[in-house]
Amino acid sequence: MLNIVLFGPPGAGKGTQSQKIKEKYDLIHLSTGDLLRSEIGAKTELGLKAKKLMDQGILVPDEVVVGMIDNKLQEHKGANGFIFDGFPRTVQQAGALDNLLESHKDSISGMIALEVTKNELVQRLLKRGETSGREDDKSEEKISKRVEEYENKTKPVADYYKSQHKFTSVEGIGEIDEIFENICSAIDKLPR
Ligand code: ADP
Repeated sequence: MLNIVLFGPPGAGKGTQSQKIKEKYDLIHLSTGDLLRSEIGAKTELGLKAKKLMDQGILVPDEVVVGMIDNKLQEHKGANGFIFDGFPRTVQQAGALDNLLESHKDSISGMIALEVTKNELVQRLLKRGETSGREDDKSEEKISKRVEEYENKTKPVADYYKSQHKFTSVEGIGEIDEIFENICSAIDKLPR
């Protein structure tokens, strides 16, 4: 199986690239952000709780997202593999993911990290905020909070995969198709 963690700060282009990767390699795309937003849309108890944190740019508790991923792995048992987008976002989530995959006799093939400068991120997210309708894209303050959460809690996840020799980084600024080609060359080098 091919299990990819697509990594990068908010606004790095993970969602856009995930769609393309999913099609080319026939993988299941699991975005914890999308899963949480669908809980919000369905007005579930979990969604209502998560919304309060998400609107402020704060991470939701690890057990919430790990539980959602657990369900999805069960649901798609026969899949060719998964692309994890926006997950794991803490070292604890990364450990939990390894345990979940191990219980399915599976493992992460590799992490691909999109490299984008802070300035570019803020510009992209503010622009997205004009049309996305996302509360957390609407002010520079909320965006900064998300970048801060990323720097403090999420960046160490890269070291987790580096120590397992599963880390590759790809330039995240440029044409979408060019970035995609570089991601594909990285994916094609992964063991499966
Ligand atoms: P972006 O990458 O643009 O910040 P996402 O859609 O991935 O957007 O996430 C939006 C929000 O959802 C995050 O700011 C956070 O509050 C919550 N969230 C998403 N994934 C996770 C996760 N794995 N752990 C904790 N919180 C998460």
